[in-house]
Amino acid sequence: MAVKTEGIKKREKDNSLQEFQDILKEAIDVLDYPDQVFDFLKTPMRFLEVCIPIQMDNGETRMFQGYRAQHNDAAGPTKGGIRFHPDVTPEEVKALAGWMSLKCGITDLPYGGAKGGIVCDPRQMSLSELERLSRGYVRAVSQIVGPTKDIPAPDMYTNSQIMAWMLDEYDHIREFDSPGFITGKPLSLGGSKGRETATSKGVLYTLQMVSDLKKMPIQDMRVIIQGFGNVGSYLAMYLHELEAKVVGISDELGGLYDPNGLDIPYLLENRDSYGVVTNLFKESLSNQELLEKECDVLIPAAISGVINKDNVERLQCKILIEAANGPTTKETIKILDEKGILLVPDILANSGGVIVSYFEWCQNNQGYYWTEELVDKRLKEKITASFLNVYHTSQKFSVNMKIAAYIEGIRKIAEASRLRGWVRF
Ligand code: GLU
Repeated sequence: MAVKTEGIKKREKDNSLQEFQDILKEAIDVLDYPDQVFDFLKTPMRFLEVCIPIQMDNGETRMFQGYRAQHNDAAGPTKGGIRFHPDVTPEEVKALAGWMSLKCGITDLPYGGAKGGIVCDPRQMSLSELERLSRGYVRAVSQIVGPTKDIPAPDMYTNSQIMAWMLDEYDHIREFDSPGFITGKPLSLGGSKGRETATSKGVLYTLQMVSDLKKMPIQDMRVIIQGFGNVGSYLAMYLHELEAKVVGISDELGGLYDPNGLDIPYLLENRDSYGVVTNLFKESLSNQELLEKECDVLIPAAISGVINKDNVERLQCKILIEAANGPTTKETIKILDEKGILLVPDILANSGGVIVSYFEWCQNNQGYYWTEELVDKRLKEKITASFLNVYHTSQKFSVNMKIAAYIEGIRKIAEASRLRGWVRF
C-alpha cells in the first residue's frame, strides 16, 4: 500500500442493491416461499453508518464515512470483508452483505453475511494515514463486531497489513488477544496458510468442474482475465502453470491481448503493487475492448457491472466465471442463456476467500494451525461440493446457475431464520 500513484477511477452508478433484490425475488418465487421471506432478506438486519475523524500527515483533520452491514445472523456470526474505495455507498455495502449471506449458505459455512466499507482513496494516503483510518474504523464499529458476532476480512484495496492494524486496535479495546476477530491476517498474527491465494484457487477449482462438465481440458482453454490484482494475478499464474493459454489480462488503465498467449511470468514480475502492468506496453486495448475479444473463458476479476446490456451481445466467450462481486448485471443473464454462455456466478465462484477465512477462524479458535496442503484439500472439497449442489439445483429447477446459486444460499438462511422463529413458512 506504499505507492502513491493517481487516484482510483470513478465507477459508473452502482446498482448492486437493486440487482441483489431482483434476483433474490426471482429465486424466492422459484422456491415458492412467502413474500415475508423476501421482505426479511432484501435488506440487512443491522446497518451502521459512522464518521471517522482522521488526522492527516499535513496536520488537517478529515472526516471519512464508513459503513458496516450485517445481513443475517441466523446461521451464526456474520462474516465479510471491508473495502476501501472512493465509490463505496450504503447501498453497495448492503448488497455485498447480502451476497456474503448467500455465499456462506451455498458453501455451508456456519455464518451469515456482512460487509464494511470506507469512502476513501487509499492510493492518495500515506501508510500512517491508512493505519489511523483502519484503527479509527475499528473504534467506530467495535460495539457490533467480534469473534462470535461479526468477523471482518480483506476486500477491495484492503490487505493483511490493514487486518493486522485492525486486530491490534480491537485487542486494545477488549484488553485481550482475540485472533478470531478478523481473518486475512498475516501468518505471524494467526493468519492461515493459503488465505492469500484462496479466492483464485477457488475460481480455478470451479473452472476445473466446468472443464469436467464440458469435457474441455484446461490445457485447451483460451482465457481472458479482467483485473490483475490479488485474484486475477494468482489465477493467471495457476492457469499458466496448468498450460491454459491466458490470451488477455487487464488492469485499471487498459488491457493486453495476444491470441497466442501472454507471457504471464513476465507480467507477474513487472506489475506494480496495485497490479498495474499495461503501462509497460506501447499498445494496449481498453478494458471494454478486451471483454469482447475471442476466448473460451472470460473471467471478470475486478469491479461490478462491467458486463451489461451495452456489451453482452458482443461477448465471444463460451464460459463466463464471475471472480469479482457482481460483474454481470441482471439484464444480461437471459441474453447469456440465449447465447449459450455458461455463467458461473460470483457467490459460488469467488467463495474460496470466505471458505479459507472460515478455516482461519477455526484454526484461531483451536489454537492449532494447519498445513497449506490441508487448507487446499479442504477448500477444494468444499467448493467442489458446493458447485455440484448448485449445478444439480439448476438441473432440478431448470434455471441457470445464477438463480440456482441464489436458491441454495436462500434455503440455508431462510431455514435457519425459520427455526429461530423469525419467519414462518
Ligand atoms: N471479501 C471477500 C469476499 O467478498 C472475503 C470475505 C471473508 O473472507 O470474510 O468474499
